[in-house]
Amino acid sequence: MNLKELYQEIILDHGKNPRNLRRTENFNKDAKGHNPLCGDKVHIYLKLNENKKIEDISFEGQGCAISMASASIMTDLVKGKEEHEVKEIVSDFLDMIKEKDELSNNILHKDDKTKLMCLSGVKQYPMRVKCATLSWHTLTSAINNSQEEINNESN
Ligand code: ZN
Repeated sequence: MNLKELYQEIILDHGKNPRNLRRTENFNKDAKGHNPLCGDKVHIYLKLNENKKIEDISFEGQGCAISMASASIMTDLVKGKEEHEVKEIVSDFLDMIKEKDELSNNILHKDDKTKLMCLSGVKQYPMRVKCATLSWHTLTSAINNSQEEINNESN
């Protein structure tokens, strides 16, 4: 099996059987994302603990195989990570999908980086890049706009 076939296999697997496709109970951060060009919709739920670590992450949504696979792989990889690590992974992934050939973060293991590199094939298709990045932008917005903050304002 060559690398391209391996990449396609992983995307198909995650697209057909998305991991973490559910709603986290007691989530404290969430955000919705929509990609009108393709019709992809995603709702990300996060449970961040007091140490700013992602205790649980899940998503609900529907869309093309790329958008579902991307959300599935992303939720798998950032679970258990700390907020600052997640931010680094997100920006590394977005740089890679837009212009870089490789990932440069030192947080993810080699196997996990391979899973992310599966999505690098979309680079040649600008419309598809939006499918692949939707859940990542939505994760960033979930982290930045927490329900906690809204509650704090009303207190
Ligand atoms: Zn799509």
